[in-house]
Amino acid sequence: MSAESQKRVVIVGGGLVGSMAACMFARKQHKVDLYEARGDMRKSNMSAGKSINLALSVRGREALRRIGLEEKLLSHGIPMRARMIHTVDGKLNEILYDPVHNQCIYSVSRKFLNEALITELEQYPNCNIHFHHKMTKLDVDTGDLTFSKQGHEALIEVKGNQQQLIIGADGAHSGVRKCLMSQPLFDFSQTYIEHGYMELCIPPSDDGNYQMEPNFLHIWPRGTFMMIALPNQDRSWTVTLFMPFENFAQLKTPDILLDFFNSTFPDAVPLIGADRLVADFFSRKASSLISIKCRPYHKNNKVLILGDAAHAMVPFYGQGMNAGFEDCCVLDDLMDELEEDFARVLPKFTEVRHEDAQMICDLAMYNYIEMRDLVTKSSFLWRKRLDSF
Ligand code: FAD
Repeated sequence: MSAESQKRVVIVGGGLVGSMAACMFARKQHKVDLYEARGDMRKSNMSAGKSINLALSVRGREALRRIGLEEKLLSHGIPMRARMIHTVDGKLNEILYDPVHNQCIYSVSRKFLNEALITELEQYPNCNIHFHHKMTKLDVDTGDLTFSKQGHEALIEVKGNQQQLIIGADGAHSGVRKCLMSQPLFDFSQTYIEHGYMELCIPPSDDGNYQMEPNFLHIWPRGTFMMIALPNQDRSWTVTLFMPFENFAQLKTPDILLDFFNSTFPDAVPLIGADRLVADFFSRKASSLISIKCRPYHKNNKVLILGDAAHAMVPFYGQGMNAGFEDCCVLDDLMDELEEDFARVLPKFTEVRHEDAQMICDLAMYNYIEMRDLVTKSSFLWRKRLDSF
Protein backbone atom coordinates (compact mmCIF):
# COMPACT_ATOMS: atom_id res chain seq x y z
CA MET A 1 0.00 0.00 0.00
CA SER A 2 1.32 3.46 -0.86
CA ALA A 3 1.96 5.97 1.93
CA GLU A 4 -0.79 8.24 0.55
CA SER A 5 -3.48 5.58 0.60
CA GLN A 6 -2.57 4.32 4.07
CA LYS A 7 -5.01 5.90 6.57
CA ARG A 8 -4.03 6.70 10.14
CA VAL A 9 -6.71 5.50 12.55
CA VAL A 10 -6.93 6.03 16.31
CA ILE A 11 -9.19 3.66 18.24
CA VAL A 12 -10.23 4.58 21.78
CA GLY A 13 -11.07 1.43 23.77
CA GLY A 14 -9.47 -2.00 23.45
CA GLY A 15 -12.47 -4.04 24.59
CA LEU A 16 -14.14 -6.54 22.29
CA VAL A 17 -15.35 -4.11 19.63
CA GLY A 18 -12.33 -1.76 19.64
CA SER A 19 -9.88 -4.62 19.22
CA MET A 20 -12.05 -6.18 16.49
CA ALA A 21 -12.25 -2.86 14.61
CA ALA A 22 -8.48 -2.46 15.01
CA CYS A 23 -7.88 -5.92 13.50
CA MET A 24 -10.06 -5.04 10.51
CA PHE A 25 -8.25 -1.76 9.81
CA ALA A 26 -4.84 -3.36 10.38
CA ARG A 27 -5.79 -6.14 7.96
CA LYS A 28 -6.45 -3.46 5.35
CA GLN A 29 -2.87 -2.22 5.92
CA HIS A 30 -3.89 1.05 7.58
CA LYS A 31 -1.87 2.43 10.47
CA VAL A 32 -3.72 1.79 13.71
CA ASP A 33 -3.13 3.17 17.21
CA LEU A 34 -5.30 1.52 19.86
CA TYR A 35 -5.58 3.26 23.24
CA GLU A 36 -6.95 1.26 26.18
CA ALA A 37 -7.49 2.71 29.66
CA ARG A 38 -6.80 -0.58 31.44
CA GLY A 39 -3.60 -2.64 31.46
CA ASP A 40 -2.86 -5.69 29.32
CA MET A 41 -5.35 -8.27 30.59
CA ARG A 42 -3.04 -11.10 29.50
CA LYS A 43 -0.65 -10.09 32.27
CA SER A 44 -3.19 -10.19 35.09
CA ASN A 45 -6.05 -12.26 36.43
CA MET A 46 -8.45 -9.38 36.16
CA SER A 47 -11.71 -10.12 34.43
CA ALA A 48 -12.37 -8.46 31.11
CA GLY A 49 -15.39 -6.67 32.64
CA LYS A 50 -19.17 -7.14 32.64
CA SER A 51 -19.86 -10.86 32.20
CA ILE A 52 -17.43 -13.78 32.49
CA ASN A 53 -18.74 -15.51 29.40
CA LEU A 54 -20.86 -14.50 26.42
CA ALA A 55 -23.07 -16.09 23.80
CA LEU A 56 -21.41 -15.81 20.39
CA SER A 57 -23.84 -15.97 17.48
CA VAL A 58 -23.65 -16.00 13.70
CA ARG A 59 -23.17 -12.20 13.50
CA GLY A 60 -20.14 -12.28 15.74
CA ARG A 61 -18.73 -15.30 13.94
CA GLU A 62 -18.76 -13.47 10.61
CA ALA A 63 -16.47 -10.77 12.03
CA LEU A 64 -14.16 -13.38 13.57
CA ARG A 65 -14.05 -15.21 10.24
CA ARG A 66 -12.88 -12.06 8.44
CA ILE A 67 -9.89 -11.68 10.74
CA GLY A 68 -9.09 -15.40 10.76
CA LEU A 69 -10.11 -16.15 14.36
CA GLU A 70 -13.40 -18.00 13.93
CA GLU A 71 -11.99 -21.52 14.21
CA LYS A 72 -9.90 -20.62 17.24
CA LEU A 73 -12.98 -19.29 19.02
CA LEU A 74 -15.26 -22.12 17.99
CA SER A 75 -12.80 -24.73 19.20
CA HIS A 76 -12.66 -22.91 22.53
CA GLY A 77 -16.41 -22.19 22.74
CA ILE A 78 -19.08 -24.56 23.96
CA PRO A 79 -22.03 -25.02 21.60
CA MET A 80 -25.44 -24.33 23.11
CA ARG A 81 -28.12 -25.88 20.90
CA ALA A 82 -31.15 -25.20 23.07
CA ARG A 83 -32.51 -23.53 26.14
CA MET A 84 -33.02 -25.84 29.10
CA ILE A 85 -35.88 -24.58 31.24
CA HIS A 86 -35.77 -25.46 34.95
CA THR A 87 -39.17 -25.37 36.65
CA VAL A 88 -39.53 -24.86 40.41
CA ASP A 89 -40.50 -28.51 40.89
CA GLY A 90 -37.29 -29.65 39.21
CA LYS A 91 -38.67 -30.53 35.75
CA LEU A 92 -36.47 -29.85 32.73
CA ASN A 93 -37.83 -28.68 29.41
CA GLU A 94 -35.72 -28.36 26.27
CA ILE A 95 -36.43 -25.64 23.65
CA LEU A 96 -34.24 -25.93 20.55
CA TYR A 97 -32.89 -22.65 19.14
CA ASP A 98 -33.09 -23.74 15.53
CA PRO A 99 -35.07 -26.92 14.88
CA VAL A 100 -34.84 -26.35 11.11
CA HIS A 101 -31.12 -25.76 10.44
CA ASN A 102 -29.78 -26.95 13.78
CA GLN A 103 -27.69 -23.80 14.25
CA CYS A 104 -26.43 -23.01 17.70
CA ILE A 105 -24.81 -20.27 19.72
CA TYR A 106 -21.48 -20.69 21.53
CA SER A 107 -20.55 -19.87 25.09
CA VAL A 108 -17.13 -18.18 25.00
CA SER A 109 -14.98 -16.64 27.71
CA ARG A 110 -14.87 -12.85 27.43
CA LYS A 111 -11.27 -12.79 28.62
CA PHE A 112 -10.18 -15.48 26.17
CA LEU A 113 -11.86 -13.66 23.29
CA ASN A 114 -10.49 -10.23 24.16
CA GLU A 115 -7.00 -11.67 24.67
CA ALA A 116 -7.19 -13.52 21.34
CA LEU A 117 -8.10 -10.26 19.58
CA ILE A 118 -5.26 -8.32 21.23
CA THR A 119 -2.75 -11.10 20.42
CA GLU A 120 -3.96 -11.11 16.83
CA LEU A 121 -3.55 -7.34 16.65
CA GLU A 122 0.04 -7.58 17.83
CA GLN A 123 0.88 -9.60 14.72
CA TYR A 124 0.41 -6.50 12.58
CA PRO A 125 3.53 -4.28 12.31
CA ASN A 126 1.25 -1.39 11.31
CA CYS A 127 -0.54 -1.44 14.68
CA ASN A 128 0.48 -0.01 18.08
CA ILE A 129 -1.35 -0.84 21.28
CA HIS A 130 -1.13 1.68 24.12
CA PHE A 131 -2.31 0.16 27.41
CA HIS A 132 -2.97 2.32 30.49
CA HIS A 133 -3.92 5.25 28.24
CA LYS A 134 -7.22 6.82 29.18
CA MET A 135 -8.71 9.36 26.80
CA THR A 136 -9.60 12.46 28.80
CA LYS A 137 -10.38 14.97 26.06
CA LEU A 138 -11.38 15.04 22.42
CA ASP A 139 -12.02 18.02 20.20
CA VAL A 140 -14.42 16.52 17.66
CA ASP A 141 -13.77 19.31 15.15
CA THR A 142 -9.97 19.28 15.11
CA GLY A 143 -9.54 15.65 16.20
CA ASP A 144 -7.08 16.68 18.96
CA LEU A 145 -6.96 14.00 21.66
CA THR A 146 -5.60 13.98 25.19
CA PHE A 147 -4.74 10.86 27.18
CA SER A 148 -3.66 10.37 30.75
CA LYS A 149 -1.14 7.58 31.16
CA GLN A 150 -1.01 5.58 34.35
CA GLY A 151 2.06 6.53 36.40
CA HIS A 152 2.81 9.64 34.33
CA GLU A 153 1.92 13.12 35.46
CA ALA A 154 2.10 14.79 32.08
CA LEU A 155 -0.84 14.32 29.74
CA ILE A 156 -0.20 12.87 26.30
CA GLU A 157 -1.50 14.89 23.39
CA VAL A 158 -2.20 13.52 19.94
CA LYS A 159 -2.82 16.26 17.40
CA GLY A 160 -5.75 15.96 15.05
CA ASN A 161 -3.57 16.30 11.98
CA GLN A 162 -1.70 13.13 13.00
CA GLN A 163 -4.67 10.89 12.25
CA GLN A 164 -7.56 10.80 9.82
CA LEU A 165 -10.14 8.84 11.79
CA ILE A 166 -10.96 8.48 15.48
CA ILE A 167 -13.11 5.52 16.48
CA GLY A 168 -14.80 5.56 19.87
CA ALA A 169 -15.21 1.96 21.02
CA ASP A 170 -15.08 2.94 24.66
CA GLY A 171 -18.22 1.23 25.86
CA ALA A 172 -21.60 2.22 27.25
CA HIS A 173 -20.21 5.20 29.18
CA SER A 174 -18.21 6.36 26.19
CA GLY A 175 -16.17 9.54 26.55
CA VAL A 176 -16.07 9.92 22.75
CA ARG A 177 -19.89 9.85 22.63
CA LYS A 178 -20.04 12.46 25.41
CA CYS A 179 -17.97 14.77 23.20
CA LEU A 180 -20.34 14.16 20.27
CA MET A 181 -23.28 14.98 22.55
CA SER A 182 -22.15 18.59 22.83
CA GLN A 183 -22.79 18.94 19.08
CA PRO A 184 -26.05 20.28 17.65
CA LEU A 185 -28.55 17.74 16.27
CA PHE A 186 -27.11 14.85 18.28
CA ASP A 187 -29.95 12.70 19.70
CA PHE A 188 -29.35 10.64 22.81
CA SER A 189 -31.40 8.62 25.28
CA GLN A 190 -30.48 6.20 28.03
CA THR A 191 -32.60 3.87 30.16
CA TYR A 192 -31.52 2.02 33.28
CA ILE A 193 -33.84 -0.91 33.96
CA GLU A 194 -34.96 -1.53 37.54
CA HIS A 195 -33.38 -4.96 37.48
CA GLY A 196 -29.75 -5.69 38.28
CA TYR A 197 -27.61 -8.78 37.81
CA MET A 198 -25.18 -10.79 39.85
CA GLU A 199 -22.84 -13.55 38.69
CA LEU A 200 -22.56 -16.73 40.73
CA CYS A 201 -20.85 -20.03 39.94
CA ILE A 202 -21.66 -23.72 39.68
CA PRO A 203 -18.26 -25.43 40.06
CA PRO A 204 -17.28 -28.66 38.27
CA SER A 205 -18.24 -31.90 40.05
CA ASP A 206 -15.68 -33.61 42.31
CA ASP A 207 -14.61 -35.79 39.39
CA GLY A 208 -14.12 -32.70 37.20
CA ASN A 209 -17.26 -32.90 35.07
CA TYR A 210 -20.11 -30.55 34.26
CA GLN A 211 -22.85 -30.79 36.87
CA MET A 212 -25.53 -30.09 34.22
CA GLU A 213 -25.98 -30.96 30.55
CA PRO A 214 -23.38 -28.69 28.88
CA ASN A 215 -24.79 -27.98 25.43
CA PHE A 216 -27.59 -25.79 26.71
CA LEU A 217 -28.25 -22.31 27.96
CA HIS A 218 -29.98 -23.15 31.23
CA ILE A 219 -32.78 -20.85 32.38
CA TRP A 220 -34.75 -20.71 35.62
CA PRO A 221 -37.63 -18.40 34.56
CA ARG A 222 -39.64 -17.10 37.47
CA GLY A 223 -42.03 -14.52 36.02
CA THR A 224 -40.66 -11.22 37.28
CA PHE A 225 -37.07 -12.43 37.55
CA MET A 226 -34.82 -15.25 36.34
CA MET A 227 -31.50 -17.00 36.61
CA ILE A 228 -29.45 -18.32 33.68
CA ALA A 229 -26.26 -20.39 33.37
CA LEU A 230 -23.72 -20.62 30.55
CA PRO A 231 -21.02 -23.34 30.46
CA ASN A 232 -17.29 -22.57 30.81
CA GLN A 233 -14.31 -24.44 29.40
CA ASP A 234 -13.18 -25.56 32.88
CA ARG A 235 -16.55 -27.35 33.31
CA SER A 236 -17.90 -24.78 35.68
CA TRP A 237 -20.97 -22.64 34.95
CA THR A 238 -21.36 -18.92 35.17
CA VAL A 239 -24.76 -18.38 36.72
CA THR A 240 -26.39 -14.96 36.40
CA LEU A 241 -29.27 -13.89 38.60
CA PHE A 242 -31.38 -11.06 37.10
CA MET A 243 -33.81 -9.50 39.54
CA PRO A 244 -35.23 -6.13 40.64
CA PHE A 245 -32.73 -4.26 42.85
CA GLU A 246 -35.33 -4.08 45.62
CA ASN A 247 -35.42 -7.90 45.73
CA PHE A 248 -31.63 -8.09 45.92
CA ALA A 249 -31.80 -5.68 48.85
CA GLN A 250 -34.31 -7.91 50.68
CA LEU A 251 -31.83 -10.81 50.78
CA LYS A 252 -30.05 -9.40 53.81
CA THR A 253 -28.83 -12.48 55.70
CA PRO A 254 -27.55 -15.96 54.74
CA ASP A 255 -30.74 -17.55 56.11
CA ILE A 256 -33.01 -15.32 54.04
CA LEU A 257 -30.85 -15.93 50.96
CA LEU A 258 -30.95 -19.72 51.40
CA ASP A 259 -34.70 -19.70 52.05
CA PHE A 260 -35.17 -17.70 48.85
CA PHE A 261 -32.97 -20.02 46.78
CA ASN A 262 -34.41 -23.22 48.28
CA SER A 263 -37.95 -22.12 47.47
CA THR A 264 -37.22 -20.50 44.09
CA PHE A 265 -34.28 -22.38 42.54
CA PRO A 266 -34.23 -25.59 44.64
CA ASP A 267 -32.34 -27.70 42.07
CA ALA A 268 -29.60 -25.07 41.75
CA VAL A 269 -28.68 -24.96 45.47
CA PRO A 270 -26.86 -28.32 45.66
CA LEU A 271 -25.13 -27.51 42.35
CA ILE A 272 -23.78 -24.15 43.54
CA GLY A 273 -23.33 -25.38 47.12
CA ALA A 274 -24.96 -23.52 50.02
CA ASP A 275 -21.67 -22.26 51.49
CA ARG A 276 -20.39 -21.03 48.17
CA LEU A 277 -23.72 -19.37 47.37
CA VAL A 278 -23.65 -17.42 50.64
CA ALA A 279 -19.96 -16.49 50.27
CA ASP A 280 -20.32 -15.34 46.65
CA PHE A 281 -23.61 -13.50 47.11
CA PHE A 282 -22.44 -11.43 50.07
CA SER A 283 -19.02 -10.66 48.57
CA ARG A 284 -20.44 -8.71 45.61
CA LYS A 285 -23.08 -6.22 44.62
CA ALA A 286 -25.73 -6.44 41.92
CA SER A 287 -24.68 -4.48 38.81
CA SER A 288 -26.93 -2.22 36.77
CA LEU A 289 -28.09 -2.65 33.16
CA ILE A 290 -28.36 0.19 30.70
CA SER A 291 -29.77 0.66 27.22
CA ILE A 292 -28.50 3.53 25.06
CA LYS A 293 -29.67 4.93 21.76
CA CYS A 294 -28.16 7.85 19.90
CA ARG A 295 -27.75 9.36 16.44
CA PRO A 296 -25.69 10.15 14.41
CA TYR A 297 -22.79 7.79 15.06
CA HIS A 298 -20.32 10.09 13.33
CA LYS A 299 -19.03 13.65 13.13
CA ASN A 300 -17.88 14.87 9.73
CA ASN A 301 -15.26 12.61 8.20
CA LYS A 302 -13.31 12.36 11.44
CA VAL A 303 -15.10 10.65 14.37
CA LEU A 304 -17.19 7.47 14.58
CA ILE A 305 -18.59 5.47 17.50
CA LEU A 306 -19.09 1.70 17.44
CA GLY A 307 -20.37 -1.06 19.73
CA ASP A 308 -21.78 -0.18 23.15
CA ALA A 309 -20.62 3.42 22.70
CA ALA A 310 -23.23 3.72 19.94
CA HIS A 311 -25.93 1.26 21.07
CA ALA A 312 -25.52 -0.37 24.47
CA MET A 313 -28.32 -2.82 25.14
CA VAL A 314 -29.59 -4.98 27.98
CA PRO A 315 -28.06 -8.48 27.66
CA PHE A 316 -31.21 -10.56 27.22
CA TYR A 317 -30.80 -11.25 23.54
CA GLY A 318 -27.09 -12.00 23.94
CA GLN A 319 -26.43 -9.61 21.06
CA GLY A 320 -24.45 -6.63 22.42
CA MET A 321 -21.04 -7.89 21.38
CA ASN A 322 -22.45 -9.64 18.32
CA ALA A 323 -24.04 -6.38 17.14
CA GLY A 324 -20.79 -4.51 17.86
CA PHE A 325 -18.87 -7.07 15.78
CA GLU A 326 -21.45 -6.64 13.05
CA ASP A 327 -20.78 -2.86 13.17
CA CYS A 328 -17.17 -3.72 12.31
CA CYS A 329 -18.27 -5.84 9.33
CA VAL A 330 -20.60 -3.10 8.06
CA LEU A 331 -17.79 -0.55 8.34
CA ASP A 332 -15.36 -2.93 6.65
CA ASP A 333 -17.78 -3.37 3.72
CA LEU A 334 -18.41 0.37 3.41
CA MET A 335 -14.67 1.01 3.32
CA ASP A 336 -14.49 -1.26 0.26
CA GLU A 337 -17.64 0.04 -1.42
CA LEU A 338 -16.85 3.73 -0.94
CA GLU A 339 -13.13 3.60 -1.75
CA GLU A 340 -12.06 4.27 1.84
CA ASP A 341 -13.33 7.83 1.59
CA PHE A 342 -14.27 8.69 5.19
CA ALA A 343 -16.38 11.65 4.04
CA ARG A 344 -18.74 9.13 2.44
CA VAL A 345 -18.17 6.07 4.66
CA LEU A 346 -19.05 7.71 8.00
CA PRO A 347 -22.46 9.22 7.11
CA LYS A 348 -23.37 6.06 5.25
CA PHE A 349 -22.52 4.03 8.35
CA THR A 350 -24.99 6.06 10.43
CA GLU A 351 -27.58 5.75 7.70
CA VAL A 352 -27.39 1.99 7.25
CA ARG A 353 -26.73 1.03 10.86
CA HIS A 354 -29.04 3.18 12.94
CA GLU A 355 -32.37 1.43 12.40
CA ASP A 356 -30.96 -2.06 12.98
CA ALA A 357 -29.16 -0.93 16.14
CA GLN A 358 -32.31 0.68 17.58
CA MET A 359 -34.26 -2.46 16.75
CA ILE A 360 -31.89 -4.84 18.50
CA CYS A 361 -31.91 -2.57 21.60
CA ASP A 362 -35.73 -2.87 21.64
CA LEU A 363 -35.70 -6.62 20.99
CA ALA A 364 -33.20 -7.11 23.81
CA MET A 365 -35.52 -5.30 26.19
CA TYR A 366 -38.47 -7.42 25.04
CA ASN A 367 -36.55 -10.69 25.31
CA TYR A 368 -36.22 -10.29 29.08
CA ILE A 369 -39.99 -10.78 29.32
CA GLU A 370 -39.77 -13.78 27.03
CA MET A 371 -36.90 -15.40 28.95
CA ARG A 372 -38.14 -14.80 32.47
CA ASP A 373 -41.85 -15.38 31.79
CA LEU A 374 -43.16 -16.31 28.34
CA VAL A 375 -40.97 -19.42 27.97
CA THR A 376 -42.98 -20.99 30.78
CA LYS A 377 -46.35 -20.32 29.19
CA SER A 378 -47.92 -23.39 27.67
CA SER A 379 -48.84 -21.48 24.50
CA PHE A 380 -45.14 -20.69 23.97
CA LEU A 381 -44.05 -24.28 24.54
CA TRP A 382 -46.70 -25.58 22.16
CA ARG A 383 -45.71 -23.07 19.50
CA LYS A 384 -42.08 -24.19 19.82
CA ARG A 385 -43.15 -27.82 19.58
CA LEU A 386 -45.15 -27.09 16.44
CA ASP A 387 -42.20 -25.14 14.96
CA SER A 388 -40.04 -28.23 15.26
CA PHE A 389 -42.23 -30.29 12.89
P1 FAD B 1 -16.70 -2.63 26.31
O1 FAD B 1 -16.68 -4.11 26.38
O2 FAD B 1 -17.35 -1.88 27.41
O3 FAD B 1 -15.22 -2.12 26.08
C1 FAD B 1 -14.89 -0.76 26.17
C2 FAD B 1 -13.40 -0.63 26.39
O4 FAD B 1 -13.05 0.75 26.36
C3 FAD B 1 -12.96 -1.14 27.77
O5 FAD B 1 -11.84 -1.98 27.60
C4 FAD B 1 -12.61 0.11 28.55
O6 FAD B 1 -11.58 -0.08 29.48
C5 FAD B 1 -12.16 1.06 27.42
N1 FAD B 1 -12.35 2.47 27.73
C6 FAD B 1 -13.42 3.08 28.30
N2 FAD B 1 -13.22 4.40 28.41
C7 FAD B 1 -11.99 4.64 27.89
C8 FAD B 1 -11.21 5.83 27.72
N3 FAD B 1 -11.67 7.03 28.13
N4 FAD B 1 -9.98 5.73 27.17
C9 FAD B 1 -9.50 4.51 26.76
N5 FAD B 1 -10.20 3.36 26.91
C10 FAD B 1 -11.42 3.43 27.46
N6 FAD B 1 -23.18 -9.57 24.33
C11 FAD B 1 -23.28 -10.62 23.50
O7 FAD B 1 -23.13 -10.48 22.28
N7 FAD B 1 -23.56 -11.86 24.00
C12 FAD B 1 -23.77 -12.09 25.34
O8 FAD B 1 -24.04 -13.22 25.75
C13 FAD B 1 -23.66 -10.97 26.22
N8 FAD B 1 -23.83 -11.14 27.54
C14 FAD B 1 -23.75 -10.07 28.37
C15 FAD B 1 -23.99 -10.26 29.73
C16 FAD B 1 -23.95 -9.18 30.59
C17 FAD B 1 -24.24 -9.40 32.05
C18 FAD B 1 -23.66 -7.89 30.08
C19 FAD B 1 -23.63 -6.69 31.00
C20 FAD B 1 -23.41 -7.69 28.74
C21 FAD B 1 -23.46 -8.78 27.86
N9 FAD B 1 -23.24 -8.63 26.50
C22 FAD B 1 -23.36 -9.70 25.65
C23 FAD B 1 -22.94 -7.32 25.92
C24 FAD B 1 -21.44 -7.13 25.71
O9 FAD B 1 -20.79 -7.29 26.95
C25 FAD B 1 -21.16 -5.74 25.16
O10 FAD B 1 -22.01 -5.46 24.10
C26 FAD B 1 -19.70 -5.66 24.68
O11 FAD B 1 -18.84 -5.84 25.76
C27 FAD B 1 -19.46 -4.30 24.02
O12 FAD B 1 -18.11 -4.20 23.68
P2 FAD B 1 -17.45 -2.77 23.51
O13 FAD B 1 -16.04 -3.03 23.11
O14 FAD B 1 -18.30 -1.89 22.70
O15 FAD B 1 -17.47 -2.13 24.98
